[in-house]
Amino acid sequence: MPDSPFTCPYCGGTVPETTAICPDCHEDLSALLRLEHSHAIYYNEALALAREGFLDDARARLTVALELHEAFAPAHALLAKVYAHQREWARAEASVARARELDPENPAIRRLAEAIADRVTPVAATSDARARVAPRREVSQAFKAGLGLATAAAVVLSLFTDDD
Ligand SMILES: [Zn+2]
Repeated sequence: MPDSPFTCPYCGGTVPETTAICPDCHEDLSALLRLEHSHAIYYNEALALAREGFLDDARARLTVALELHEAFAPAHALLAKVYAHQREWARAEASVARARELDPENPAIRRLAEAIADRVTPVAATSDARARVAPRREVSQAFKAGLGLATAAAVVLSLFTDDD
């Protein structure tokens, strides 16, 4: 995850992500690091819940993550996927639009936005040809992609396999 290096509040030194102990002054920064990264912790919980199919719980975690850190693009993108999975297309579009605003160069987010936009159109929604060829396992794989959102489009395309 592209987090900026953590600055030790005691000595001003740079603390690598791999440790919670400041290499310069040896203060234990684990509590501060948890606070600093709490939005990411909620995001990871949301991701795990989404993989298991607990979409409402995932939404709740993502809401908290975004209250802690509104400009966290991956949370908006994952929320968009969850909304899409629940067919709340207006919300999915709003969330993915915010993700693109925050991370306009991310090709996975762009693909997610396009896929969501496709499903919103009435024509696409009634055409289930593409949905049927997408194996169900792609849903969990797409959530597993996590921050990379590598197969974001796959999850959206396979959303309609649930009940048709
Ligand atoms: Zn220090």
